[in-house]
This record gives sequence, structure tokens and C-alpha cells, in this order.
Amino acid sequence: MLDASNAGIPIHHVSILSIAAAVTGACVGYYAGRWSLRSTAAADRAAQRIHSGQLNECKLEQTEGNTATSQKTDPYNPLPREGFLSWDDYFMAVAFLSAQRSKDPNKQVGACIVSQDKIILGIGYNGFPRGCPDSELPWAKLSRSGDPLDTKYPYVCHAELNAILNKNTASLHGAKMYVTMFPCNECSKLLIQAGIREIVYYEDKAAPVRDTSPNEAAPGNIRNEDAYAASKRLLKMTGVKLRQHKLDRPIVFSLGT
Ligand SMILES: [Zn+2]
Repeated sequence: MLDASNAGIPIHHVSILSIAAAVTGACVGYYAGRWSLRSTAAADRAAQRIHSGQLNECKLEQTEGNTATSQKTDPYNPLPREGFLSWDDYFMAVAFLSAQRSKDPNKQVGACIVSQDKIILGIGYNGFPRGCPDSELPWAKLSRSGDPLDTKYPYVCHAELNAILNKNTASLHGAKMYVTMFPCNECSKLLIQAGIREIVYYEDKAAPVRDTSPNEAAPGNIRNEDAYAASKRLLKMTGVKLRQHKLDRPIVFSLGT
């Protein structure tokens, strides 16, 4: 998950767009102007493919100032380009990019709804309702005074809710949602009622270790772990397909200067 910085990405000037194969490390983070998604399995697979010659590492990288021509290809070669994004990586990356719009200093979540024809129908991230100034509501997870009104939970709209409300089609029946974190029980109710039939998630929150810590994430009075247990129960009961996707390979975008 993107837990590091919530700094914005300057999209008005794109000087570098790189999709690079990283051979070590396991991280998902935003750092120093670079946004990256990496997983151990994906990195290992990329390393194996590079080592075996199946994947040309150079072809996966584009360098600054040469973004359009760095891949030297034979213009008469009818084969498709190697290293293109899979559908799962593509839509999950859109969800992660959307999460970078969130002002929440603790958790940035993004969601992307996709039709059965692989068309994006809605995107959302966690934030306060439209018209509510970000500086006038709390982002705190816990209240010093114990007053729940001093925490973010009564006010924040989850990414899944916003993606549904931002839909560009009349119906989401049969659609699929890509989301960076497993949905809570409140969002699962919305997803089921909206007709979403598959949820592809990155971070699993469905089977947390039960503990006695204060409620930190669930809306209302329900405990955090109970919220996700209820969510999984509802989704299983209604036959919504659940699938964790950790990316087929590392994806790195470097935007701006
Ligand atoms: Zn939720």
C-alpha cells in the first residue's frame, strides 16, 4: 500500500515515463518524485525472465528526453511490443495513481471500476465529501479527547464509494472493481448493491489478526477486524468473486523534473 507520502504528482509536465524491471526489493511507495509499485514475486519473476533471456531489460526502460524513441524496434517486425502492461496491472496501476489524489496522511486508497469489456467506468479515492474544506475536518485516526467527532471516520468517503458515485454509465451491473485495499463492510454493501461481481484487491484486509487495539479504520462503532470479517462474509454470501493481484511486474513512473 501507499503509506509513505501523500504528495501530489505534477502531471502537467511529463519528462520521464519509465516502466522498469527491478530485480530486487519488495516495496510499494512514493519517493522523491517517483511513484512505484513493486512486489517480491513480480520482481523475482522479472529477474528470472531477464536472466533467462525471455525479457530484455533495456526494452522496458525509457530514459529522459528520449521517451518516444528509446525502444529501437524493427519497423517491419509484425510482432507486438514486449513488456506491455497486463490488464490487471493496468487497472491496478490506475487505482494506485488515483490513490495519490488522497489527502489522508495515513492511508491513500484508490479504486477503479471496469466493465466486462475492460472499459473504465469510474475512479475514486478516499477523501472528504465535495465542498468540505480539507483543512476544517480532522484526518486523525484517534482522538486525544476520546470524541469520535475529532477523527476522520465520521466524515471520510472511501475510495470505493467515490468510484461508484463517479461512474460514467447508468449501471455497474456485472462490473469489476480494482482497489488498492480490501473493501470494508460498508463499501462491500455498496459494491454488492451496485452490481459489482468481482473485486480485485492489492492489500488484503480480509483476515486480520484479532487484537484489542482501539478501532482505527471502520466507520461507526464496529471494530476494525470485525468490519473486514463482515465484509468478507457479505461478499462470499453474495457470490462476489474475490481475487488478490500483486502485479505481474514492478511498475515505475517518474513524472516531472
Ligand atoms: Zn470502505
